[in-house]
Amino acid sequence: MVLDRKLYKKDFELSKKKCPFCDIKSQWDLVIWKGDYWYIQHNKYPYLWLEDHLMVIPLSHKVFANELSEEEFWEMAKVQKFIKNYYWDKQYFSFMRETLWKRSIEHLHYQYLPWVLRTSRIENILKEQWF
Ligand SMILES: [Zn+2]
Repeated sequence: MVLDRKLYKKDFELSKKKCPFCDIKSQWDLVIWKGDYWYIQHNKYPYLWLEDHLMVIPLSHKVFANELSEEEFWEMAKVQKFIKNYYWDKQYFSFMRETLWKRSIEHLHYQYLPWVLRTSRIENILKEQWF
């Protein structure tokens, strides 16, 4: 079940005690693909209610991409094929979330969103990081 992003905060607080991405069964109604190392699901709290807001999540709890095994990277090729077929003739973009700063669930995940990311905010984001 997809929920309003405004409700995210409560679940996010709970996620600090119990990782929701490690419990695929709790996400099962959102899951659209599962491999040996990764699964793909609709975001429970999609940005702007976007139906095509997907997340790619490793089955094992990893915080950073540099913790991924060669097998996990290998299967990422299948993930990318699924994503390409999912969006089919639509453009899409992605970004990775890896954090230990309590800004997101601390289980590595990739966000996939339809269309093209057009922003010049990267510099502003960096400035907010004290650069
Ligand atoms: Zn986890």
